[in-house]
Amino acid sequence: MNTYAVERYNLSTESAKEKPVRTPSLKRIRVQDEVLILGGGVAGCAASIALARKGRHVTLIEREETPRHKVCGEFLSGEALEDLRLLGIDVTSLGAVPINYVRLAAARRAAQAPLPFPAASLTRKALDRALVAEAIAAGVNVERGRSVQVLGRAGTDVWQATLEDGTTREAATVFLATGKHDLRGHARPADPQRWIAFKMYFRLAPAQAAEIAHASELMLYPGGYGGIQPVEEGIANLCCVVQQRYLASSGNRWEQFLAKMQQDCPHLAMRLAGAEQLLARPIAITHIPYGYIRPTSEDGLYCIGDQAAVIPSFTGDGISIALHTARCAAAAYLAAEPAPLFQAKLRSGLLTQMRLAEFAADGLNNAFARAVLPFCLKVWPGVMRVTAKLTRVAHGAAVISLQPAAEA
Ligand SMILES: Cc1cc2nc3c(=O)[nH]c(=O)nc-3n(C[C@H](O)[C@H](O)[C@H](O)COP(=O)(O)OP(=O)(O)OC[C@H]3O[C@@H](n4cnc5c(N)ncnc54)[C@H](O)[C@@H]3O)c2cc1C
Repeated sequence: MNTYAVERYNLSTESAKEKPVRTPSLKRIRVQDEVLILGGGVAGCAASIALARKGRHVTLIEREETPRHKVCGEFLSGEALEDLRLLGIDVTSLGAVPINYVRLAAARRAAQAPLPFPAASLTRKALDRALVAEAIAAGVNVERGRSVQVLGRAGTDVWQATLEDGTTREAATVFLATGKHDLRGHARPADPQRWIAFKMYFRLAPAQAAEIAHASELMLYPGGYGGIQPVEEGIANLCCVVQQRYLASSGNRWEQFLAKMQQDCPHLAMRLAGAEQLLARPIAITHIPYGYIRPTSEDGLYCIGDQAAVIPSFTGDGISIALHTARCAAAAYLAAEPAPLFQAKLRSGLLTQMRLAEFAADGLNNAFARAVLPFCLKVWPGVMRVTAKLTRVAHGAAVISLQPAAEA
């Protein structure tokens, strides 16, 4: 018997006051009632809040003891802001900076366009902390500092997650939300481009900080692209991705890579002149399978966030997709829609935007585009607005009706 399931049952269900009777059928009911969410980032927290608010018994397992910095540009698109608002997260009170402009810089040229939707930026540490707090307030049983090692079957209808200390958690339904980290047996395909991403915080010189006050700047250089934008407390986030072979040409060292980016993109050199680097080392991740969309799933396993789809970073839409997929999966589960069907519908709903984003990312990652794009944008800044709109995952794209489930 999974003792954890018994404890949860005794503590949290409406029948908690009744004396638990230890029979196999009762165990089955308990496990069936339980929803296990693996990963307490954006998608995991959002799904857990949605389900707990509908009275489901949710356990969320997050490997970090407390929220920490994550590799992310920390740009919140209009769709993300709306989803966060519905979850009860007020980003303004958390110190989010409004972002009104997008600027594209390559070589010595830069072009600017107003964003066609409201946007903001907020550190992931602040956002994740608020989401976990909201999940706890909604009644989610949050287990922090626990790492899932294996997710397998304990029976035909029961999933079993094994944690680092060998203990297990069982549930009929699991939401897989471990973000960039794959669990054994549920891995996404390899990333053939071998992308590496870095994040570093800077305190810019006052004149440069004023220049990016409400702007998100995208910078192009050989082998990748990066973005710089303000986050709370007057800090700037520099987040960049590069293919392994280009990083190797900088000796695989951050300092050399940063110098090379500035050499290839003088706009970045201007921004960083006199800046103070605020972290001892950049935060880095590897294996980012851009363009991946999970084709299907197994019964009782809803894959959300980066485990469902990975959009190229420059769109700044990953958080929105994480929230969107979490909301759709919660609605599907509440409507008793089988996970394989949900996953296939989600895929077809996301496909167009994902392919457009990939197409645009490939376009940016080419020498000719780097040379001419900022010039073109000066002539027709509307192209940036159009690209921004096309690469958004439209909320209407969800083929799952949320309404009946929300009323379930
Ligand atoms: C370079 C880069 C820049 C980006 N910039 C932006 C941007 O500006 N705006 C934007 O909207 N999106 C951006 N994204 C995308 C965005 O960060 C992700 O799409 C989003 O975080 C996905 O949310 P998630 O919940 O799936 O994963 P996460 O938020 O990463 O959460 C996953 C959680 O699972 C936990 N976990 C992992 N493994 C285990 C385990 N074994 N057991 C228990 N817990 C585990 C982790 O600790 C983590 O808290 C960027 C991505 C990259 C790579």
